[in-house]
Amino acid sequence: MGEKGLVSSTSIVVQLGSLAGAGMRRVRRISAAVAWLYLALQPPLSAQVIHVDHGPNALAQRSKPYVIVVSLDGFRYDYAAKYHAKNLLALAKSGASAPQGMIPSFPSLTFPNHYSIVTGLYPEHHGIVANNFYDPVRKQRYRSADAATVEDGSWYAGVPLWVLAEKQGMRSACFFWPASEAEIDGMRPSYYLHYNPTVPGEKRIGQVIQWLLLPPADRPHFITLYYSEPDHTGHEAGPESPETGEAVRQVDGLIGKLVAELKPLRLPVDLIVVSDHGMATVEGNWMDLDHFADLSQFVTVGSLLYAPSEGAASRAYRQLQGASDKFVVYRRGEVPVHLHFQSNLRIGDPVVIPSGPYMVRAHASEKPEIVQPDVKGGHGYDPQEMKSMRAIFFAVGPDFRAGAMVEPFENVDVYPLIARILGLPIGAVDGRLAPLQGILRQPQSSDLPPKD
Ligand code: AMP
Ligand code: ZN
Ligand code: ZN
Repeated sequence: MGEKGLVSSTSIVVQLGSLAGAGMRRVRRISAAVAWLYLALQPPLSAQVIHVDHGPNALAQRSKPYVIVVSLDGFRYDYAAKYHAKNLLALAKSGASAPQGMIPSFPSLTFPNHYSIVTGLYPEHHGIVANNFYDPVRKQRYRSADAATVEDGSWYAGVPLWVLAEKQGMRSACFFWPASEAEIDGMRPSYYLHYNPTVPGEKRIGQVIQWLLLPPADRPHFITLYYSEPDHTGHEAGPESPETGEAVRQVDGLIGKLVAELKPLRLPVDLIVVSDHGMATVEGNWMDLDHFADLSQFVTVGSLLYAPSEGAASRAYRQLQGASDKFVVYRRGEVPVHLHFQSNLRIGDPVVIPSGPYMVRAHASEKPEIVQPDVKGGHGYDPQEMKSMRAIFFAVGPDFRAGAMVEPFENVDVYPLIARILGLPIGAVDGRLAPLQGILRQPQSSDLPPKD
């Protein structure tokens, strides 16, 4: 869990964190210089933005509001209050919020959940069942860190919001979002970038503002913006650490900056800030499933198990059953219904689900001496069982009621909400508008007669 960025001074420092004193200071200086050089050699942002010309916004779309969805990766539902994220707390006053959190889909990992938020589908239906998984029919692996698979649209089912918009003549833009680099259903966002975690936070905001300053014909109405913090620090230092508190305040500062820069535009912008999942303090050593079951003939990816035959699946199931109190094993067809994790072959069979904040993998790593996880924080667990997996939801703008609070709801419900605000008809999805209808101002701006 927890892929690292390309080059960042913090990750270099953390990896070499065991050095002390003068040596450490030298490493810090060198790593800062490397990071600076790397950034200096990057092409300017304008050259990194890819423009796919789909023509101007259809006339009927120009009077619609603008929706910006910001994701703060791994921002646990209680971080804003716990770490005094003043800008997010201010959003809760001027708009709507879910004080007890938004419930991620299972598994509570980055790629499945970002894609659930923008498709309204559970991972078993949209197909991105983990950050890394195997497809037994294609006989291929999907890896979130592999551009070749991430950019290959044939992995993704469902209609992401940017595709929904583009197909109805409404322009969209993605400043990063899992799947935004792929052509899905024959469509891409009008503006997008290849994922590059080194692009500074403020620059991302600057680009979003530039998009909103385009003439109405070209101006995207649906925009995504992604930050990999506080997930990264949450893994490294744990959710309860001062470092994570600092990471929370940093991304909160970015939200403050975004709000401030949106104001002078005087556009009807609905700003929705979400996260994909929360974070738990991991406990104990790695649980290696091959300690309990013969997995030598299985394809395995992390804790996912792909059996060579029905007989092998049933044998491994029996061997893993009751083997430890750190996990529960199910045949795929019997995974608890609330997890919506049965119908896709990419899930594998049997299915192992940790019973608490434990790190489970099929095999001991290449280095069997590594028995302790190298992270302090983790996620991926059952969000209905573990409250620490809950994510955030804040929504402010002309379509949201100030001070509205909503009970915990599932993240697949965000899709019908945004489609409703943008007046975009949708097909059948897992999400429902009903849990969020109460936070909307009536009538929605999309129901109003067009403005000129
Ligand atoms: P996770 O530990 O599941 O939360 O994964 C978080 C990591 O996913 C982040 O640290 C990012 O580096 C990575 N990530 C997020 N978005 C993308 C993307 N669009 N393409 C590739 N990697 C991404
Ligand atoms: Zn993570
Ligand atoms: Zn994440």
